[in-house]
Amino acid sequence: MELDKLLKMKNSLEIFKSAINEVSNVKCVINNDTDKNENGNITDLIRKYNAFFSDNFLLYLTQDIEKIISEITNKLNITCEHEVITDYIDVFPDRCLPIKYCTKCNITL
Ligand SMILES: [Zn+2]
Repeated sequence: MELDKLLKMKNSLEIFKSAINEVSNVKCVINNDTDKNENGNITDLIRKYNAFFSDNFLLYLTQDIEKIISEITNKLNITCEHEVITDYIDVFPDRCLPIKYCTKCNITL
């Protein structure tokens, strides 16, 4: 079923996006580390694969992934025969907010 494949693709892209974000964070920590000698191996790798690790490339990659996720969400929204349920999320200890989402495609409606 195409819906399942769209969902798998969307979930995989979200994991990919989060992994790229983590790579950016680790790179930032290494760049800001005052003890440069301690990270010789990783600094060499970042230098060797400079094109991949560049801030611009990681940013473009993230933006492309977000675009694809957004298009997949639109396609899911159009093709899914939604089964909407209402759930409540805690916003404060004493306050809940209702949210409606589809149990098939997980889109918030
Ligand atoms: Zn749905």
